[in-house]
Parts: sequence; structure tokens; C-alpha cells
Amino acid sequence: MIRRNRIFAKSILATLFLFTITSFAQTITRSTNPPARNGVTRANAPQFIVIGADDNTNAHAFTWMDTTIANGRNRDGSRRYMSFYVNTRSGWSGSNVTVRNAARAAYDRGHEVSNHTHDHPNIRDRNMTELQIFDNIMQAQNAMVAAGIPAAHQFGFRTPFLAHTPETFTAMRRAGILYDCSITSTALAGNHNYPYNSGQSHNVQGLWIVPATNVTVHPNDRAALGNRSTVAGLDWNLWSPTSGGGIGNGMDSAQTVRALMFSLTESLAGNRAPFTFGPHSQYYFDSTAAATGWFPNITAAQRRGAFREFVRQASLLEDVFFVSGDMVVRWMLNPVPAAQFRPDDYHRSSPTSIMPREIHSSKTPNNASVSIANGNINLHLPTAASNANIALYDVRGRLLFERNVAVNGNIANVALPQSIVRNQAVILQVKTNSDFNLTKRILVK
Ligand SMILES: [Zn+2]
Repeated sequence: MIRRNRIFAKSILATLFLFTITSFAQTITRSTNPPARNGVTRANAPQFIVIGADDNTNAHAFTWMDTTIANGRNRDGSRRYMSFYVNTRSGWSGSNVTVRNAARAAYDRGHEVSNHTHDHPNIRDRNMTELQIFDNIMQAQNAMVAAGIPAAHQFGFRTPFLAHTPETFTAMRRAGILYDCSITSTALAGNHNYPYNSGQSHNVQGLWIVPATNVTVHPNDRAALGNRSTVAGLDWNLWSPTSGGGIGNGMDSAQTVRALMFSLTESLAGNRAPFTFGPHSQYYFDSTAAATGWFPNITAAQRRGAFREFVRQASLLEDVFFVSGDMVVRWMLNPVPAAQFRPDDYHRSSPTSIMPREIHSSKTPNNASVSIANGNINLHLPTAASNANIALYDVRGRLLFERNVAVNGNIANVALPQSIVRNQAVILQVKTNSDFNLTKRILVK
């Protein structure tokens, strides 16, 4: 048994290695079926649960949710992971870095910690420009980098209030986001869309859409809950009476667990599309929410109880795995049946990660300066050379531009094609005939 697993692991590694080179052209269109490769079918796909917590503005609550997932195992004994989409407005700098520390601890435990903008603006209501959105995303990205969470590991993004605009998606793309999870899949459980990177209404090349799946209300509870059969897959929407035109007085604890488990088991018996659910970790402790009567039928203690109970029950089910959003994207690129799925082969720490932006990035060596501004790449090298190879990749590793240029002593300049958009983070690689070697993440200005 052990030996078989080992052989299997080797073949996985070999496959993953190959697709680090080839996957970026891989187009996966929106579908309710899993990718039909490697023997994967609707009946044998892993049933992923992506808990993607939004805001996370309370350090204690952040750590509570992180450890609730981390301190337990999937049915097969493998580690459980989740995603956090954070705002970085408070608790991240100055004299109060409690939230920042909680975020770093969650990252260190293996969870994904990603972007929900710096200060949670309503992008649609404010008519924000692409540059304003980009700046807001980058503020959060930089705060996380300062916390020790590499930009290359900040894979996902959820739009505040799900109020996305076309500019939101192009801004995400420029900030190097791998996947969005702001677009709802409104089907009944069992028939949700799988993630896709092509054919979306907001067609942004290379960006993955991991659908935010609606929760399906348990049939026995529908009469008591405004005759709703589905509700947006965020905890606020389950519990608030004002949610999207009324869900009765909001769910109580038992209705919450029944809805989540019903959604999961229907999906498991259906097409097994990833079940994504968006809690807000601060709601599980925030006395403000209770004080203002947001959730009349469920106390903070009951919210924690319902969350724990769902995680407990789900973890008893065969073929069910708690994973982060980026792990689902890796699986989409290299799908295997549940019986062969090993979460850690798809984790960011896997030595053969799909993320080409994990090209080892170095600090600019002493006395070298590089910039990309006004349509030019400008290099000032620490050692003289006669020629240099300059390559530019987008943050997902797609080659944008490559050129061999003459170096005049220590200086080289080359014009950038106009097709390369500005205000985009890119990876610059420079190699000279004098053995100068540089890989650097840099902003195209
Ligand atoms: Zn939010």
C-alpha cells in the first residue's frame, strides 16, 4: 500500500513538473463537469470544500477559524486547509499588528492568505477606476508582504460585497491575482460550475474564476425560510433577515448546519463541483453584529457551534477535502480521482508547484538598478558586459517579451512593445555574458 502510494506520488510529481511548462496555455471553459482527464468523472472527483473567509478584522476570531480547520483532518487523515481574503485597514500596522500576526500565523499553518482589498470599498457604487482598484488591491498586497506573506502566495481575490465591475477583473489581473471568487454560481447544489479560465462574462485572459457557490436550503426548512431554495454562499446571507429579498428571520443554528450539509451531500451525489463557502471570521465573536440585531436567530456562540459542527460532519465523509482555493486551481490543471488525491501534492509548498511566479526572486544586487518606465526597460549593471538576455514574464509565468540586447559598459536600454500594459507587476529576468543574473518582480510604470 505504502509502496503503491510512493509510486503514485512519483508519477504525480512527474506530471506536475511537465505542466509547469505547459499549463499556461491550458484553457478550461465554464462547465458543470470536471475536466475529463486522468480518469476523472463526476462520480469519482474529489469533493472540495473551500472555506474562504472574508474581512477577518478581528485577530482572535481569525485564529479561532484558522485553528478550527487546521486542528483536524479530512476523512482520509490528510491535512485540512482553507483560504482567508483579508482587509488590511486595521490591525496591520503601527502600534496594533494583532490581525497581521494572526494572518501570518494562518499562513504559516499552511492556509492561503489572500486579498479582499485594503479598506473594503464598494467598487461599483463608487465607480472606481481600474487604477483606483489596482492601488487598493496593491495596498493590501504590500501589507501582506510586509507581514511575511509573499506576493507569489497571495493567489485569490474576492470583491467586497461581490460588487465587481469589468475594471475589477483587469485590476486583479494586473496585480497578479491567480483566481477570483466573486462570481456566484446560482444553481442548486449538485449542478454548480467548476472553476474556469475562459468563456466568463468578464473575459480576462489568464484569470481563473472559482465560483462562489450558492447554499441550497434543506427542503424541510424552506417553508420557514421565505420559501427560498438557495441563498448566496456567505454566512451573512444565511443569517440576516434582509438577505436578498428575505430568508424568513434568518437561519438558526440547526438550519445552518442542515443547509451546509445538504449542499455538500447533494454536491457529492451530483457533479462534485467545489463547494465554496464564505464566512466572515469576525462574525463569530463580533458583539457589534449581535448588538445591532443583524442575526436575530443565532447567537455568536451558536454561530461558532454551527461552523464547528459542519466542519466535523463534513470531515467524516469519504472523498471530501477541505482545501484552499489555489489548491483547487492546481487540481483543475492536473485532476485526479478522489482515491488518488493527496492534498499536499497540490499545496503551495509542493516542490513542483504550478505557480511559475515562484521563480526564485532575488533582491537587486548591490549597484544594479532596473526600472521599467515610459515604455523602456532601463538597466544599470554592477559589472560590465557586452550583451544581455532580457525576459519579461507576467506574474503567472507567461512570457511577455524576450530580447537579446547589446550592453554599453554597464548600461542597457530596450523599448517595450506597446502591447504590454502599464501598472502591471511583472517578473524581469536578466542574464549577461559576464554571468550577471537577476530575477526581480517589478512594476511596469
Ligand atoms: Zn467583505
